[in-house]
Amino acid sequence: MSGPRDKTERQAAMVPPSSTPMIDPFGRSISYLRVSVTDRCDFRCVYCMSENMTFLPKGDLLSLEELDRLCSAFIRRGVRKLRLTGGEPLVRRDIMTLFRNLGRHLESGALEELTVTTNGSQLARFADELAACGVRRINVSLDTLDAAKFRQITRWGALGKVLEGIDAAQRAGLKVKINAVALKDFNEEELLPMIRWAHGRDMDITFIEVMPLGEIDGQRADQYLPLSEVRARLSQALTLEGSSHRTGGPARYFSSAETGGRIGFITPLTHNFCESCNRVRLTCTGTLYMCLGQEDAADLRKPLRASESDEALMEAIDRAIARKPKGHDFVIDRTTRQPAVGRHMSVTGG
Ligand code: SAM
Ligand code: SF4
Repeated sequence: MSGPRDKTERQAAMVPPSSTPMIDPFGRSISYLRVSVTDRCDFRCVYCMSENMTFLPKGDLLSLEELDRLCSAFIRRGVRKLRLTGGEPLVRRDIMTLFRNLGRHLESGALEELTVTTNGSQLARFADELAACGVRRINVSLDTLDAAKFRQITRWGALGKVLEGIDAAQRAGLKVKINAVALKDFNEEELLPMIRWAHGRDMDITFIEVMPLGEIDGQRADQYLPLSEVRARLSQALTLEGSSHRTGGPARYFSSAETGGRIGFITPLTHNFCESCNRVRLTCTGTLYMCLGQEDAADLRKPLRASESDEALMEAIDRAIARKPKGHDFVIDRTTRQPAVGRHMSVTGG
């Protein structure tokens, strides 16, 4: 008898990757899928989650085999880059099985890149295995290098463990990029030292504007630091040269002559980048969000489970892409109390 993995492999072998990429109504090619493999996390970052989060019952989650089948369907439909995220992807039980199995698409050349966004807490354990699965680059989220502030912002995290994880990742040969959310009155003064630290270790660093996603305990307006201000301030200390470097994501990069590395800016609020969006996002329950900042979604779990053939699933994917919206309408100000969308970043996957 053949197991689910064999079945997926047979299907993947039978249907060659599409030569025509998925194109949305605004002419954008969709070649990048982010998958939130769990909504759970071992941290509770104050801008991401409330302290008392209600998570999905474990029974609602797609199995790793189902996630593999969904990812493989997207790859056959022209997705070239896949990022596993969450919640914290590395806390999902047996997650390395999914990485290992998806690695076959790297070997076949159907997939260009398999990556992960992680808080780093489990990296010391998994770095070698990630590299063995074909992962070459990873994003590690880190908002401060001060252990007490790290505990404050993550509520539950330990900085030392994350730093050990980054060491292990670099030893394993993974290219690490640091992602830091720029937070008003929290890490404003630290951004320059963080650039120096990251570049000193041969890591690029990207700053992110906080986005109004999900209810949290504080006010977004108290957290929001426009990156236009950050860039202006950094330019007083560093020569920032615009760079054509792209990683397939939304960051715009600058290189800094003084520190010899790149600084990325992800600016959903101050500079909308939706016109070049190439991404869609899948949740761990099989819901496809065509935009991080909109409520519209497509249920892929039903067609996935309805049949062993992927025909209905492929049709559902095409119908979803055909209604990808033009962009988000994020606003953070003192008068807008409601988040742009009710779900947290950990549900849709950052
Ligand atoms: N747990 C992993 C991590 O922290 O890297 C992956 C998931 S996390 C949701 C992905 C990224 O989203 C992190 O870099 C995090 O800082 C960022 N993030 C979370 N909530 C955000 C928000 N409301 N606005 C902007 N970035 C956010
Ligand atoms: Fe967890 Fe990442 Fe959200 Fe922090 S940002 S609570 S690490 S999912």
